[in-house]
Amino acid sequence: MTDLPAPTLRLQLDSAALAHNWRTLDRMSGTARAGAAVKANCYGLGTGNCLPVLRDAGARDFFVAHWSEVPDALHHVPASQLSVLHGPLNTDETAFARATGVRPVIVSLHQTKLWVESGGGPCDLMVDTGINRLGIAPREISDPVVQALDVQTLMSHLACADEDSAMNARQLAAFRDVMPMIAHREASLTNSAGTALGGDYHFDLTRPGLALYGGIARREFVGKIRQVAFPQAAIIQRRELSAGDTVGYNASFTAPAAMPVGVLSLGYADGILRNWGGATFVHDGRHLPILGKVSMDMIVIDLSAAPNLTEGDWAELPYSLPDAAQQTAVSQYELLTLLGRRFGL
Ligand SMILES: *Cc1c(COP(=O)(O)O)cnc(C)c1O
Repeated sequence: MTDLPAPTLRLQLDSAALAHNWRTLDRMSGTARAGAAVKANCYGLGTGNCLPVLRDAGARDFFVAHWSEVPDALHHVPASQLSVLHGPLNTDETAFARATGVRPVIVSLHQTKLWVESGGGPCDLMVDTGINRLGIAPREISDPVVQALDVQTLMSHLACADEDSAMNARQLAAFRDVMPMIAHREASLTNSAGTALGGDYHFDLTRPGLALYGGIARREFVGKIRQVAFPQAAIIQRRELSAGDTVGYNASFTAPAAMPVGVLSLGYADGILRNWGGATFVHDGRHLPILGKVSMDMIVIDLSAAPNLTEGDWAELPYSLPDAAQQTAVSQYELLTLLGRRFGL
């Protein structure tokens, strides 16, 4: 088939910033190594774009959530460096784990039995210390079937690491209590935010995700973590509005005077939700406010500040995650993972 023409929207990725963020988190992890959560297509930014950069920066421990995410990841890293956070639900999944050599993170007694009955072998073990999401209960650890596991990394997960909550210390204490109860080669407790809680929390391995991709989960990251993803779209039509003309669905914007506008080739199907209404695109430092409602595939912007812009020119949505989260009331995590497939990742 003939080649596809160049897309009219793109997610500019700053690979140097991504590598910088991993190295920063590795340094903030003290004597522990920083791993990398690469689930959900590297938080929406593309496994093929991000995983090689993280690997080349030095990451050696990667985490996906689903077994379906394994094949993509294995294009870039060896199976021995990959763990699947949801663990095996059934014998199809244990068979897939064994065939690929990827480590399951065992999260329940059910999974423990499945894994041991399938023949066992190295796995990670998630213990619940209070988030009550995935994880085996501390009282279940003495069960002989759990004791039969060959645990590479003993893990738990903090519920409130992005807050100065007393829950962090409680979970740390609970994790410390569990550690002597089962043989393991390494221990790991923190996500991005938890990495800033200090050396007591680091153990052997940290598991940052959000901060790799530019998220600022705590003030300690301000000025250290750099923006990675920059959504940009082409103007596909320029129009000249007259005073009184309205824009978009429900005619929610009315031009107060004659003005040039541009129709951008992206919308909520690309993850730019209607919450962005009233926000401002930029081009060369010029501010181009969104007019009216965000449509599925289009956003109309005011070109008054850059009246020479026309079809084929590009504008960028400022996507500094902490600012964007404040502006849209959408979390930094969601702002990343929403970014749609049409960005061509
Ligand atoms: C997603 C995830 C992480 C990464 O969390 P961030 O808050 O994105 O840094 C770490 N550990 C587990 C178990 C996870 O599910």
